[in-house]
Amino acid sequence: NLAPVRRALLSVSDKTGLIDLGRALSDMGVELLSTGGSAKTLREAGLDVRDVADVTGFPEMMDGRVKTLHPMVHGGLLALRDNDDHLAAMDTHGIGAIDLLVVNLYPFEETVAKGADYDTCIENIDIGGPAMIRAAAKNHSFVNVVVDVEDYAPLLEELKANDGQTTYAFRQRLALNAYSRTGAYDAAVSAWMAKALDEQAPRRCAVAGTLAQTLRYGENPHQQAAFYKDGSTRAGVATAAQHQGKELSYNNINDTDAAFELVSEFAPENGPACAIIKHANPCGVARGASLQEAYSRAFDCDRTSAFGGIIALNQPLDGATAQEITQIFTEVVIAPGADDEAKAIFAAKKNLRLLTTDGLADPAEAALMIKQVSGGYLVQDKDSGVLTADDLKVVTKRTPTEQEMADMLFAWKVAKHVKSNAIVYVKDGATVGVGAGQMSRVDSCRIAARKSEDMAAELGLSTPLTQGSVVASDAFFPFADGLLTAAEAGATAVIHPGGSMRDEDVIAAADEAGLAMVLTGMRHFLH
Ligand code: 5GP
Repeated sequence: NLAPVRRALLSVSDKTGLIDLGRALSDMGVELLSTGGSAKTLREAGLDVRDVADVTGFPEMMDGRVKTLHPMVHGGLLALRDNDDHLAAMDTHGIGAIDLLVVNLYPFEETVAKGADYDTCIENIDIGGPAMIRAAAKNHSFVNVVVDVEDYAPLLEELKANDGQTTYAFRQRLALNAYSRTGAYDAAVSAWMAKALDEQAPRRCAVAGTLAQTLRYGENPHQQAAFYKDGSTRAGVATAAQHQGKELSYNNINDTDAAFELVSEFAPENGPACAIIKHANPCGVARGASLQEAYSRAFDCDRTSAFGGIIALNQPLDGATAQEITQIFTEVVIAPGADDEAKAIFAAKKNLRLLTTDGLADPAEAALMIKQVSGGYLVQDKDSGVLTADDLKVVTKRTPTEQEMADMLFAWKVAKHVKSNAIVYVKDGATVGVGAGQMSRVDSCRIAARKSEDMAAELGLSTPLTQGSVVASDAFFPFADGLLTAAEAGATAVIHPGGSMRDEDVIAAADEAGLAMVLTGMRHFLH
């Protein structure tokens, strides 16, 4: 299964490491072929290189669109070395075998990330490169294909270890990398085009990404995992800068994303806000007169759960807030900036990770969400639903007060980020009870109310925090029971989508209990 490398074709956009690789190959007696720019770089370093144009008998033409698309190249890559017909064809047409292909593609992803115009992006779609990569990878029984600068050193080691040859297992691994690269490359092109054509339809989705980090493990230690970035420049966990602390884990990334997306619902110009997340659900969200107060109020919703949580802030972290946060163990803090005092305070906490972003995410921005299922994946628009008071319909005899209205809109924003069935009690711009992820809505109502009672006991208060609160439900109340549980806990106003067969019963129960109720006409399931 060993195959010799006698002739190599080097055609790279990123010239990093090219000269060293060319020299090492040349020293092993490998003949070098190369395309325009790559050949020039090698020749200037004093290496002996043959131009592909010389092999094909055609000059590179059409601005480099056609360089290597020729049977002299593709025949050399694809010919089976143990097939008499293939060998005869090579002989007849004077095609020389190419045993090693080194290509890195036109920097399409980088060009898009730089915000280049349409025509520039189009010109940066590599055609000949992927064609050669796919050909060489198909023929990995005999041919080596390297698509990543990181693989130059392992290639040279393999050749040295095997006297100028490579093993079949090695070539197989190279081929796998090669197809991953061309697959991701075309997916990046398709994702860019979908955006350029404003074609956000989920049916046109292609998964594109570049490996950002190999994670120590996944959701659990026996699961392998990795983090891919999709090239988006949107503020968020993928584009944040990490200032200190250990590498983020799979669960950290997932929870930090949930925290940041939630806090981004609260525009900084409307005042400081803080969200604390555990297992992708909020255990406290609050506004405050200061960032420190917002954090403390969020913490007071559920102090037990907040331990080891992930904190997101909608304004740059300051010293006073940093000091407060360090009172308990926290995994990650993410904020749109941090001042020097805050950084100095955090520096003493080696395990605390601090991430800063360039602003907040736009909660109304269109995007696609992907979820894997067995045998396929689901694609949908991101839930970018955002409501104002004008979108709400009052359906009870009693109209909500201004404070109730403000709290209901707050609770609705939070409910959007709580796993269904979601119930969120809010009072004076702070959550006072969150019921998440239950299979029955009434259970979510009860759990949130009970947690609020526990918290009141811990804080030494005589009444539960849900007294005089408002409650949001991510989907309609199918029966009056959940609503009545909330009323018993002390809620005075309710926000939910409406639309149940029994809406009339639920509204009548609300009237009877003296509640104010508004319907959103929009649902926020989250699973
Ligand atoms: P060079 O800098 O050597 O002139 O060009 C190297 C780049 O050209 C590599 O990124 C390679 O993938 C790409 N390339 C090689 N052959 C072709 C071709 O026939 N058409 C196009 N569009 N690109 C090619």
